[in-house]
Amino acid sequence: MTPKIARFLEDVRPATPCLVLDVDRVEENYRALAAALPLARIYYAVKANPAAPILTRLVGLGSAFDAASWEEIAMCLEAGADPADISFGNTVKKESAIVRAYDAGVRLFAFDSEGELEKLARSAPGAKVYCRLLVENAGADWPLSRKFGCSVETARELMLRAKEVGLDPYGLSFHVGSQQRDSVAYEAAIAKVGMLFTDLSERGVTLRMVNLGGGFPVRYTSEVPGIDHFAQAIMGAMTKAFGNAIPEMIVEPGRFIVGDAGVVSSEVVLVSRKAKDDPVRWVYLDIGRFGGLAETEGESIKYRLRTPHDGGRTGPVAIAGPTCDGADILYERANYRLPLALKSGDRVDLLSAGAYVTTYAAQGFNGFQPLAEHYI
Ligand SMILES: *Cc1c(COP(=O)(O)O)cnc(C)c1O
Repeated sequence: MTPKIARFLEDVRPATPCLVLDVDRVEENYRALAAALPLARIYYAVKANPAAPILTRLVGLGSAFDAASWEEIAMCLEAGADPADISFGNTVKKESAIVRAYDAGVRLFAFDSEGELEKLARSAPGAKVYCRLLVENAGADWPLSRKFGCSVETARELMLRAKEVGLDPYGLSFHVGSQQRDSVAYEAAIAKVGMLFTDLSERGVTLRMVNLGGGFPVRYTSEVPGIDHFAQAIMGAMTKAFGNAIPEMIVEPGRFIVGDAGVVSSEVVLVSRKAKDDPVRWVYLDIGRFGGLAETEGESIKYRLRTPHDGGRTGPVAIAGPTCDGADILYERANYRLPLALKSGDRVDLLSAGAYVTTYAAQGFNGFQPLAEHYI
């Protein structure tokens, strides 16, 4: 928690649940990544948190943007982004959205299939396109499954085809999974990309860009390697794959930019036990799975918690949200412990909760209001 957030929570005591996000920390994270990977252009993954104060600050810093829908593109433009600095990075786009993006001046598009390539050829003639490869997500706490990306063989054919249909075959991308703790995932993906670059250049298509996606981790309950560790691994792999002809590099961080800039402040609604002698207390907060904490699904993302009784004796807890849905449990198996003194009405803060929270909040499930937001 940044000093600015601590002061805001203390002085303002905002109604819970709410997200309080320090935009200065967003800037620090952006600068740290830019310093660690000076050869890469940063395209902030808007879906991590599309709030205007964040986008505006990033525009001021010279950031580019990775958008997944026309609506996200519109938010970037609204915040003052140059359409030339926006990548339409979703490989699954409505053609009407492609048309709107192209009309607005966006010229960089992702795809991973023949059907999408046809849409782009029709509705974004001459645009720069990059094909997303399916890569291993091992080591990621929030893997992106097999939903996106294609095999190397398919990518090769599609990039050749891109040229034939009048598009600019610009590069390749991948995403190693979100909250990726293992730099080997990037190294393996870069090696794959490097081979395909060579292969395509032998067939007359010279690619110019590698998009390394996002995935850079934030510290939750366990430590993660710092950004310099990932940067070193990435540059080592790039040099190995491309020698001194390193192509343009793009990174698309979401979590890394906003994650540790935000705190979700909540209130304890109830502490109870299922039986008198049950050692496990159930702690019900006024925010849960449907209030924005979607990444607790499968207990994948384990937020650090702060309570007014920290330092006191603790006992085991299960932690749940306030709705009547049985799936609205945050942690039951992750061995969370909270102070024995914790009681209804206490504040519990979830640290490093600036990413993928407001965007996941349901619009009033069970009558609970969507998450309130404070950008300071
Ligand atoms: C979600 C997403 C990102 C951001 O991922 P993080 O793990 O938050 O850094 C980047 N690129 C694409 C294409 C995405 O879908």
